[in-house]
Amino acid sequence: MQLFEKLIEYPEAERLVLENTFLLPVEETLLGEALGLALARNLTATTDSPPFDNSAVDGYAVRSRDAEVGRIFEVVDEAPAGRPAKKSVGDGEAIKIFTGGVIPGGSDAIVMVENTSGWGERFELKKVPAPGDNVRAAGEDTRRGDVILKADIEVGAPEIALAATQGYGALPVYRRPKVVVLSTGTELVEPGTRDLEPGEIFDSNSYAIVAAAREAGAEARRLYAASDDAGTLRAAIEEALETADVVVTSGGVSVGEKDLVKSTMLELGVTQVFWGVKFKPGKPLFYGTREETRLFGLPGNPVSAMVCFDLFVRPALMCMTGRTDRRRPRIPVYFEKDVVNKFGRLHAMRVSLTRTEKGWLAESVGAQGSGLVSSLSRADALALIGPASEGIPAGEPIEAIVLRDEKLV
Ligand code: AMP
Ligand code: MG
Repeated sequence: MQLFEKLIEYPEAERLVLENTFLLPVEETLLGEALGLALARNLTATTDSPPFDNSAVDGYAVRSRDAEVGRIFEVVDEAPAGRPAKKSVGDGEAIKIFTGGVIPGGSDAIVMVENTSGWGERFELKKVPAPGDNVRAAGEDTRRGDVILKADIEVGAPEIALAATQGYGALPVYRRPKVVVLSTGTELVEPGTRDLEPGEIFDSNSYAIVAAAREAGAEARRLYAASDDAGTLRAAIEEALETADVVVTSGGVSVGEKDLVKSTMLELGVTQVFWGVKFKPGKPLFYGTREETRLFGLPGNPVSAMVCFDLFVRPALMCMTGRTDRRRPRIPVYFEKDVVNKFGRLHAMRVSLTRTEKGWLAESVGAQGSGLVSSLSRADALALIGPASEGIPAGEPIEAIVLRDEKLV
């Protein structure tokens, strides 16, 4: 029987994961697919933006020096967005213009239609415009050659807008990690395919891990193994290794006789970085490398799988894509009553958070069993209890990892 040789502390495990992770290559990625990835280099403006002087309103282009309240202007042309006027503006003349329309030659101000007698072949001026009124100048947003986006920033909707404004159809970003997720366990059944037989349960981990990996910016897919049979497991891990940057397995990684994930990985040439963390939930966590591929063996208990994903796999995926916000926010929290840690290892306790005048009050979401899937969706944070202390006295601040940022608002 295989027992844990050496359990390491959580901070060391986190460090080892990140130390053995590297940036993925840069790929020109279509604008529509770059969301959440990090820019590999500065992006510069290729043109002035806006590229030409244009109108900020719907109205009439005029010469401000002709303007007098009560004067009648003749409308000689029009300049809708996308179709510049053919004529220019002379004395007492105006050109109908709409938002985004090119400022016609001769004119230096736009009168809002609200400040005239209205739309028509001629109009009466009700309010005098100053030179430059309602004109958006070429280059007022960005100038050709300006650095518009800096290397390393995460591409979000505003960054996509800015890049598109400059005509970029693709962005140089560190590519998405390819994650292959594999559930192990003969008891597992694909949800939605059939009813359970005695002793069976539905596979929830592989779906949850794929979702969490995508949320962390990865391209993730499931590879269905769901067996504790050595041959099946080996074939599945081998297949995963062919395409994955990161292989994430669930289950079969503890000290049971049916726990073959670690030994199979080692047989396939994987180098163990660590196996076993002084941490709850998720003591049997395995981490290994084979050439460019990283392998995480997550424990099968759903809470352990998800917490280990969050604390170890997620930072690794974000590190691979150049994201700097790898760690979730951490805040001090306190408990109203003394909390005992009877596990002899760091307990990442699922808690809800409430803001009080003393700070953030943490309350256990209830029983902390590693199989209690429903507890995960009630948890706002993981309060880190231990490792050395036997517990936390009431009111004493400790660190918590925030799972739901929206709680902090
Ligand atoms: P293991 O780590 O394989 O010993 O599994 C620990 C517990 O987690 C057992 O009760 C398993 O049935 C359960 N489990 C393992 N894999 C999954 C999964 N993919 N989805 C839901 N529960 C699982
Ligand atoms: Mg199992």
